[in-house]
Amino acid sequence: IDEPKLLAVSGIRVSYVAGVDVLHGVSLDVSAGEVVCLLGRNGAGKTTLINALCGLLPVNAGQVTFDGKSLLGLKPSGIVAAGIAVVPEGRRVFSNLTVAENLAMGAYSRRTGFGPSWHFERVYDLFPRLAERRDQLAGTLSGGEQQMVAMARAMMAQPRLLLLDEPSMGLAPLLIELIFDTINRFAKEGMTILLVEQNAAAALDVADRAYVLERGSIVRSGLAASLESDPEIQRSYLGV
Ligand code: ATP
Repeated sequence: IDEPKLLAVSGIRVSYVAGVDVLHGVSLDVSAGEVVCLLGRNGAGKTTLINALCGLLPVNAGQVTFDGKSLLGLKPSGIVAAGIAVVPEGRRVFSNLTVAENLAMGAYSRRTGFGPSWHFERVYDLFPRLAERRDQLAGTLSGGEQQMVAMARAMMAQPRLLLLDEPSMGLAPLLIELIFDTINRFAKEGMTILLVEQNAAAALDVADRAYVLERGSIVRSGLAASLESDPEIQRSYLGV
């Protein structure tokens, strides 16, 4: 028997301008407990896919189901209520709120009864650096610290699926390591994650499975380990 997919995307077409599709029938799925990464270059359509999943862009054709129920036509608030949390590209935090207040905003949209429960102590345990800075305004944190706040805030909502859009973008190597280490810890806690990344090597290291998006179409998919050792992927995405 096939395991039910938590997220199932099938043949979706998405456009910004009528008649010009940016996603040309994209299909992918994520099972509960999996970390799945979506690789692709600049402009491949990764953020477009995330925005469509969040209800920020209409889906012109195809289907998206979450736990068997269609997400199509839901507003972003309905998608959050279904249990999907997103950390958008560019780590938008509430600059004029403290770290603790940012986390409280995440808890505000909390679901009950799903997944392990997340609360301040647990988040501060996982992010000691945020614990030290809990009363500091988020806008005054470093880029890496802001990314941590954005990720921690998403976890406070106790999502069933976490969407991460290029969490390592623009960060120094040490912080990139910290972010991927955090993703690993979320995964060990059983969180289901769809990770969009240009940093293919690090993404394939944390992921169970991966998809490769090129010009709006999925061109490869498979176990992360097998893509990592694939000569074509190594040449095109891993700089080998
Ligand atoms: P990046 O890594 O640079 O963010 P991406 O894979 O996330 O790339 P998208 O941002 O999804 O790519 O862009 C996919 C295509 O859609 C690009 O050709 C882009 O020019 C186009 N596009 C993105 N946003 C808009 C918009 N608001 N209006 C029109 N076209 C857009």
